[in-house]
Amino acid sequence: MKPTKVIRTVPIVAIRGSVVFPHTDTILSFGRPKSVAAVNAAFSEDRIIAIFSQRDPNVVDPAIEDLSEFGTIAVISQMMSSETEIHAVVKGQARIKLGEGLAHEPYLIGKVAEVAEEEFEGAGIEALSKQLVELFRKAVNLGKGVEITTVMRIVSGGIDPIELVDSVANLLDIKTNEKQELLEEVSVEKRLKKVIEYLTHEVNVLDLERTISMKTQKKLENQMRKAMLLEKKRAIEEELDDDTGAAAGNEIDEYSSKIKKAKMPKEVHEKAVKELKRLQQLPPSNPEGAYIRNYLDWLVDMPWSISSEGAVSIKHAEKILEEDHYAIDKAKQRILEFLAVMKLKKKSKESQPTILCFIGPPGVGKTSIGKSIARALGREFVRVSLGGIRDEAEIRGHRRTYVGALPGRIIQGIKNAGTKNPVFMLDEIDKVGSDFRGDPASALLEALDPEQNKEFSDHYLEVPFDLSQVMFIATGNVLENIPHALRDRMEVIRFPGYTEQEKFHIAEKFLWPKQMKMHGISGKKIKISDEALKDVIEGYTREAGVRSLERNLANVCRKVARIIAEGKKYPHLLKVSNIQKFLGVQRFSSLIAEKKDEVGMATGLSVTAVGGEILFIEVSLMPGKGHLILTGQLGSVMKESAKAAFTWTRSHWKELGLKEDFGSTTDVHIHVPEGAVPKDGPSAGVSISTALISALTGIPVKRKVGMTGEITLRGRVLEIGGVKEKVIAGHRAGLKIIILPKDNKKDVEDVPNEVKKEIKFVFASELEDVLKVAMKGWPPATTQPKRNRPSAAFIATA
Ligand code: ADP
Repeated sequence: MKPTKVIRTVPIVAIRGSVVFPHTDTILSFGRPKSVAAVNAAFSEDRIIAIFSQRDPNVVDPAIEDLSEFGTIAVISQMMSSETEIHAVVKGQARIKLGEGLAHEPYLIGKVAEVAEEEFEGAGIEALSKQLVELFRKAVNLGKGVEITTVMRIVSGGIDPIELVDSVANLLDIKTNEKQELLEEVSVEKRLKKVIEYLTHEVNVLDLERTISMKTQKKLENQMRKAMLLEKKRAIEEELDDDTGAAAGNEIDEYSSKIKKAKMPKEVHEKAVKELKRLQQLPPSNPEGAYIRNYLDWLVDMPWSISSEGAVSIKHAEKILEEDHYAIDKAKQRILEFLAVMKLKKKSKESQPTILCFIGPPGVGKTSIGKSIARALGREFVRVSLGGIRDEAEIRGHRRTYVGALPGRIIQGIKNAGTKNPVFMLDEIDKVGSDFRGDPASALLEALDPEQNKEFSDHYLEVPFDLSQVMFIATGNVLENIPHALRDRMEVIRFPGYTEQEKFHIAEKFLWPKQMKMHGISGKKIKISDEALKDVIEGYTREAGVRSLERNLANVCRKVARIIAEGKKYPHLLKVSNIQKFLGVQRFSSLIAEKKDEVGMATGLSVTAVGGEILFIEVSLMPGKGHLILTGQLGSVMKESAKAAFTWTRSHWKELGLKEDFGSTTDVHIHVPEGAVPKDGPSAGVSISTALISALTGIPVKRKVGMTGEITLRGRVLEIGGVKEKVIAGHRAGLKIIILPKDNKKDVEDVPNEVKKEIKFVFASELEDVLKVAMKGWPPATTQPKRNRPSAAFIATA
């Protein structure tokens, strides 16, 4: 179809800010006089009017030249006028092009030529039209504001492409100049494509707006939800606060009365009241509250003014100590003396005497004597172990700022005792260490020192506690391991360990009845024969104390209890055979009995943390260069003893019948067996020398001789400690002769009689005195090598 050009003369109206498309209905408002005149004129004639948009919207009275080239010819279907303007509904008919202008007054008149649409055919237009309809549908679905009738008309499908594209173009949300461009586009296909392009953009924007608004909606909803929940929570809390407020009130009252009851010193009372006030002011949900409560609990539970009132009667105390313990008379006497002094000092209101310290191996009754003292004094008994403590805070507490802070062990012990004057046992005081976390020993000193402990300060408690009424008893295995400053403050009482005889009595009188009672068989009157008891002591235990003995007796009681519980026949008198059935094969036999008189081996005596022990010192020789090899976990003092002994033999080569240069051609290996137990101390000097000389001379050492004593380079034998423990251990092991330094003669008095009866003591001031007794044949023959000497190479020929 060829475009036809119809030229007409029509009234022309100029519009600003919009474009009228053919095939659309538009409502226009006119206010300018020329526009009003033109519309009136057209309406009164054939209602046809040409509408052009101004090129420049700012021109108030546009001439023909001010108008766009393309416009729309329209029919005015309705009109309504008011005082200042008229409103008209115009139906766009066709595109027109502006021709020559004919009049400017009273309104614009000109010639216009209708623009024929470009020919179009084919599937391309149809497809584009469909695409446009779909896009339009989508836009409407996404919320594009279009009247429903228009929507129906466009999406119904019965509308031709030209009408479709103009209708949609009219509804596009684009600028006026872009609309004008669409009006001027005469190719339908191009116009369709452009409109699709604009509409696609619009759909995208709408889509985005929609997701954004959905998101914001969600966000808003969430915020609303949160706000509502918070509001609810607040309301619930308010309700609850009313209740907990009441509960808190009760709690405060409770603490108040507890504080009153605790009868604290003034300063402590003030502190407690202050803390309580702080608690009262805290909102119930504040976690600080828990800390304050914990602290207040400690304050009110401390025995600020509770003490057990027991008069010290020495007679009564003596009776109790005797009742509970066999033997250890020396310890008992010292304790009674101590209590007597304490009584007198109390009368004269002087500070308490120094602290007692029980030293001895495990199981010798240190703890149980402590308990008896408490019983005798009518006081509470508490026991705190200090073993392995390295941190000062363990003694003095952690500051309250630490999470999980607690008072130190002293204050904890006092709280457990429930009184301010208990008998307080500090176990394992010899195992207190110190490192970067402070020195626990100095904190202990403050606690134990009667001058200072009236106001003992614990980091957690913050207020001082009066420890001056506490009777401290420290216990330990080895005195030397206790820090000096502490040792000075204490009165040491030694528990040397028991003889087999003492153990027998303790077991018979105390341990057996006690274990029977604990196992519920005391009513059965079961007896243990003397032989059986001795068998338990000698065959199943090797110790200074009676701990293992007590364990073994407990084991026997368990076995008997089972037989009784099973309803079987049980023995009324336990014999050795019963014991061996219950306890299995004997674990120990006499150490010495096994041994022979040997060359290069001597028996020494020592004291360790578990009491007195015997040591076997072995020496072996090899050709070499005079090296001294020491094994068996020997401490530095023991090594020095070995060196001194070696030097002595070298300087006495002649008397010993050795070659002069034996020291530089022989290597000496000294070994002290009994596993990984570290050994130290000077008292092995004589036994090392004896073993060495025996090895060098080839003369055997008598197996039933034990010895102890320090040795000097000149062969003098010096005094040592722990005689009683050593002698008892030697006796237990089956020795018959014990060589002691002469200066230790006085200590033999302490040795129990039954041991003294069975042991021959020899007192030595020179090494020679030792060798005379210990060696099987002394002095050595220096001229003729004996047959049984191990190696003639070491014997002097001169
Ligand atoms: P320690 O504190 O020295 O390690 P304990 O006091 O725990 O030893 O004693 C271990 C066991 O031996 C306890 O049952 C104790 O009653 C008992 N015991 C120790 N020595 C005697 C004694 N001389 N008389 C009676 N029983 C004793």
